[in-house]
Formats: sequence, C-alpha cells, structure tokens
Amino acid sequence: MKVTENKIYNPEIECMDRESLKKIQDERLKETVAHVYNNVPLYKKRMDEAGVKPEDIKGTEDLYKLPFTNKTDLRDEFPYGLLAVPKEEIVRIQGSSGTTGKPIVSGYTENDVEVWTEMVARSLVAAGAGKDDIVQVTYGYGLFTGGLGAHQGASRVGAVVVPMSSGNTQRQLMMMHDLGATMLCCTPSYAIFLGESLKEMGYDPKEFKLKSGCFGAEPWTEEMREKMEELFDINAYNIYGLTEIAGPGVAFECPAKAGMHINEDHVLAEIVDPATGEPLPYGESGELVLTTISKTGMPMIRYRTHDICTLDVTPCACGRTHVRMSRITGRTDDMLIIRGVNMFPSQIESVLLGIQGVAPHYMLIVDRVNSTDRLEVQVELTDAMFSDTVADIEKIQKKITDQIKSVVGVAANVKLVPPKTIPRSEGKAKRIIDNRGLTSK
Ligand code: AMP
Ligand code: ZN
Repeated sequence: MKVTENKIYNPEIECMDRESLKKIQDERLKETVAHVYNNVPLYKKRMDEAGVKPEDIKGTEDLYKLPFTNKTDLRDEFPYGLLAVPKEEIVRIQGSSGTTGKPIVSGYTENDVEVWTEMVARSLVAAGAGKDDIVQVTYGYGLFTGGLGAHQGASRVGAVVVPMSSGNTQRQLMMMHDLGATMLCCTPSYAIFLGESLKEMGYDPKEFKLKSGCFGAEPWTEEMREKMEELFDINAYNIYGLTEIAGPGVAFECPAKAGMHINEDHVLAEIVDPATGEPLPYGESGELVLTTISKTGMPMIRYRTHDICTLDVTPCACGRTHVRMSRITGRTDDMLIIRGVNMFPSQIESVLLGIQGVAPHYMLIVDRVNSTDRLEVQVELTDAMFSDTVADIEKIQKKITDQIKSVVGVAANVKLVPPKTIPRSEGKAKRIIDNRGLTSK
C-alpha cells in the first residue's frame, strides 16, 4: 500500500496546545451563545426555561448548562425558524432527510461555507491531498452535503476536482482511469462496489493512480477498510459530518488511522448518556453531542447527533491535538442509511398511512448484496384487499414503491404479505432487520 505523507493543512490550529485551543473555544462559545440568544426565539425560550443567561456561559466547562437541540427542532422550525441572521446573509441551503416527509435544511452564511471548506481542506490534506492531486468526487451533488462539501475542500487545497457526482459505475471507472484520479471521495460501500466492478470491466488495478480516499456519510468497518485498501491499493480514510453542523469534515482521520480528529476550533464535542443526557467522561461510549462555535447562519447548540461513539483526547502520532472520535458504532434512534441516503421507518409509515388497502404494519429488511444495500419493505395487506385480484394488488405494490422512492429517495423492493403475518410486539415495535453487520466495531 502507498504511504500517505503526514501533511497538515493548518498546523497552527490543528496542533495547537490544548490550553490555547480552549481559550479560542471559550471566546467563540460565548459569542455563539449570545448570538443565538439574541436572534433565535427557540434558543432564547429554551435557555429562559432552563434559567440560563448568556452571561452564565464563561467557557466550555459551562456547556452542560445549555439545553439540547434535536432533529425535531429543525423539523418544527423548518425552513427558516432557526436562522440567527437575516435571510439576505444566507448564501446556501443544504439538506438531509427528516423523520417524516419533509427534509431538514440548514442555512449557511458566507462565513459558514468558508469554515466548512476549511474543515474539508484539513480532512483531504490529512488523507494526502495537495496541488498535484486529482480528486474524483463521487458523492452526490445537491442538497446532500457530500458532493459540494468535498468539492469545495478539494478546490481549496488546489487539487484538480472531478465533480462526477454519484452513479454510473462504468463512467466513474473510465474517468478515474483515463484522468488518472489520485483521490476518491464517496461512500465506503460504493467505493467497494467500484473496486469490485473494476476487474469485471476488464481493467487492471495497476493502471489506476489512486492513492487514497475519504469515505464517509454512512457507517463502515475495519473489514471494509481492508477491502477498499486491497481493491484499489490505497489508504482509506474515514470522514464524518452532518448537515446540521456543516457537512463532511466535522471530523476526519489522519494517517494514524486511530479515530477521527474533530475540528475543535469550530465544533465542540461531548459524549452524553443517551437516556439521561448526562455528560460522560472521555473514553466512555455514548451519544455524540455537537456545538458549533464559529457558524453564524444557523448555529447548533448541543445538537444531539444520535450517533454513538467514544472520544479520545490522548496525543495522536500525527501531531494534531484535536480530540478524536471513534467510528460510529450505532444510532440511538432508528435512522438507517441505505446507499448513503438517510431514512427513518416513520417515513415509510407516513407513506403507508396514505395508501388504501394496506395496514400500517411493516418490516424493513436491509441486506448488502455485492456491496450494494438492498431494502425490502414488507407490508401487510388489509383483509379486504387480500381477497382482491392480482392486478389490483400489483397496482398497490407499484404505488407503494413509487411513493417510497419519491418521499424517502430510496428504491425499495416492496413485498405485500397476508394480513397479520408481521409479528406484533408488546413493547416498541421492531421494524428493522439489518443484516449488514455495520455496527460490530
Ligand atoms: P447527513 O446530514 O445526511 O450527511 O447525515 C449525517 C449522518 O450520516 C450522521 O449523523 C451519521 O449518522 C452518518 N455519517 C456521516 N459520516 C459518517 C461516518 N464517517 N461514519 C458513520 N456514519 C456517518
Ligand atoms: Zn492524528
């Protein structure tokens, strides 16, 4: 495997001693809290209810006093309720799946796009990027932050960007080969799919110039790393992010491959007990909670990511001092990521509730076949519908498939099953069987 040189985009900040870093964090946190208190009614209301005033927040040690923010707040305040600046200062909207029909969106000021770009630039440089690189961006371009995020970061580094967006495996490989791409940015499952398709399409892996890749937007494992590194003879690096905070680049792996450095001069990280919300010490597994401290458009205070991981603040071999988060080992909610698209079972439920002839009893079965996620949605027919003609039943099946595709954005294999065949549960309904084994490590 090629060796990645240990390069650091912004050594002054990324390797800053933690005492000086804390001073920056304290100042930025105080500013952010005052900014949201004065400009976002929801934050003011929450802080007033909790009896916290901006003056009570003197530094990161006071973070725990602030109320949490959740995805439901973004849904309830959709689209502009959480903006902390007038709309004319917003220059970009990006979005992701919400828990029901509507997406959640985030507004970015010029400053926010700049901060995000810097975070991605740091991530790509850590993975070896420089002016001489040709970066193939195979994340989707659009509301999803992956494509544009990676694009902006690669441009900042001065690399050649190839904005492929997602899909069309044949064309991806042809361009990668002919242009001599040296870095790949896409979801890890698609990277494996590309790697496996390469030989099938008659290419010799040695003819490719790829040396590394930044893979994220969905959970992956060490086994998947080994596979990607072997298929392409590259170094595979993890990159983490979420729309609400910025997009990819919130955290990234360095050549030590021992966790992802969180860009702590822009984002504060805590781990809390998902049940009680109590902060947990470094090293303990729990829910990641993030607070933006340089964003101005739509700052997020103590945002519950629902992602489960651990934090490690011990020194890293690369020289960076920023805290490292482990791989995401699971979610505290029922969000699934299918072929890089986030989805919630509640979205399927809302589709089913609008369709006559089916009961809102369903089961989602997720598998990975040839490195590609497959979603099967089993839906119960009502008694009345069960006795209908095959043609009628097929019509319903198509309707459900189409609506899932349009609401959730994922192609599903819909299977209609006889009434009362989906197991009923006495407690929380078990609606997901995920056979992908992504949460083992
Ligand atoms: P989105 O806002 O659509 O980009 O989705 C963000 C979510 O994707 C995060 O909250 C995580 O659950 C997931 N995610 C992003 N990057 C990673 C990663 N490197 N590993 C595991 N999950 C990830
Ligand atoms: Zn490191």
